Amino acid sequence: MAASEADPWLVLVVDDEPEVHAVTRLVLTRLRYRGRPLKLLNCLSAADAERVLRETPDIAIILLDVVMETEDAGLRLVRTIREEIGNQAIRIILRTGQPGQAPEEDVVLAYDINDYKGKSELTSQKLFTSVVAALRAYTDIVALETNRRGLQQIIQSTDRLFELRSMQQFAAGVLTQLSGVLRVKPDAILCAQREPESGALTVLAGAGRYADAVDNPDAALNPTVVAGISEAFRSKRGVYGPDGSTLYIRVPDGHEVAAWIHTDRPLDGVDRALVEVFASKIAISFSNVSLYERLREANETLELRVAERTRALEEANARLNRLATLDPLTGVWNRRRFLELAGAELGRARRYGRHLGIFLLDLDRFKLVNDTYGHAAGDEVLRTVVKRTREALRASDHIARFGGEEFVVLLPETDEEGTSIVAERVRASLAQTPVLAEGRAVPITGSIGVANWLPDEASIEQTLRRADSALYAAKQAGRDRVERG
Ligand code: GH3
Ligand code: MG
Ligand code: MG
Repeated sequence: MAASEADPWLVLVVDDEPEVHAVTRLVLTRLRYRGRPLKLLNCLSAADAERVLRETPDIAIILLDVVMETEDAGLRLVRTIREEIGNQAIRIILRTGQPGQAPEEDVVLAYDINDYKGKSELTSQKLFTSVVAALRAYTDIVALETNRRGLQQIIQSTDRLFELRSMQQFAAGVLTQLSGVLRVKPDAILCAQREPESGALTVLAGAGRYADAVDNPDAALNPTVVAGISEAFRSKRGVYGPDGSTLYIRVPDGHEVAAWIHTDRPLDGVDRALVEVFASKIAISFSNVSLYERLREANETLELRVAERTRALEEANARLNRLATLDPLTGVWNRRRFLELAGAELGRARRYGRHLGIFLLDLDRFKLVNDTYGHAAGDEVLRTVVKRTREALRASDHIARFGGEEFVVLLPETDEEGTSIVAERVRASLAQTPVLAEGRAVPITGSIGVANWLPDEASIEQTLRRADSALYAAKQAGRDRVERG
């Protein structure tokens, strides 16, 4: 914590003569250094002084008698202060009534003290001067020490900041680290970036009271904050105000970032120097975080695009699959797919000892239909043939277009009789009523060759060959009929 104006400088007077205490007090009451008065602590022995020193680490000066409970009690206390208590900052002014007892040169060389005075020398003016000089040295040492600690903290903190991956975490990290670095406790931070062209401010992250600043940038960017940030961007350096300060961070990738920090008191010179070092040190971690964020965003977009492409590919695949398995004119299976299905059904029939029926249907004199009614009418007839055939089948039966005007039907679990019945039903449904095509009634018939799979037939092709012979026989016998092979 920075000492406030009213905080007094602590001066410890150690002397076994009460008289010395009284005189010292008289001389130093008026003294004010940098607006702050002195507060005297009094001890009559070295032992008592040691206790006070251990309890009070921020004593600025000790005015120390040499001869007290022992001949060298004061000198021993010097060693205790520096070596045991480890207080290097306190300024030590030795005072002796018997200079011969401890020769000045020896003592100054051997002990870490700042001044050595005979008590007789301590007229009011000399004491005053001595104390002021010691206070000045003390202030410098404390500032150096604060600086040293702050710098150490900065080195550690930038290491830690390097591990953070998101801007939000980074802002919180910067706030925590600054609290360690500064003696003025910062309680909020807001990181903003300036758009290179428009000059508009974008909130990157916030912590403390600005924790939700990314979602509510307008609320966070109040006039004080905007003034600080804009001034930092304009001057390209830190801006220090009564309510808060703005760090100016030039990120190695060329971006500029300003971080407004709110503090309960203005930053003094030491704090400002530390903030400047901090800002320059975190610039690299900052660009690290922003690179990481961009990389993650790029990755997410990439993943999205891959997912989109995968979906498109799957659709294309499904389309291709349909093309590869369906007949485009009639929507029934094509020959390739039929042979696959038939293979599977044959396997099942063999495994479970089931029947499997098959028949080939070829339209009679279809060339004539085309010639008479036109090719479009022919197409329509083919679609109607499929429709009528389907109506004669069960859902588990398969129909496929085998070639131009030739269809094949596979009937799982159907014996010879059943297959013949279905075939006959199909034949009849074709012959019964002419097909309406292109507004005209087209009479049609079909010839059918039936075969049932025999257990000694290794493949469906053998059964198909028998059906084909039967079909040929049907044609030979005058068409519009069902023959068995
Ligand atoms: P058959 O009774 O001996 O079977 O005589 P057919 O005329 O039906 O036999 P052929 O094999 O000589 O002729 C078949 C005709 O079927 C020839 C062809 O123009 C026609 N055809 C084949 N595929 C299509 C098609 O997709 N659409 C149309 N409209 N006609 C087709
Ligand atoms: Mg034909
Ligand atoms: Mg034919």
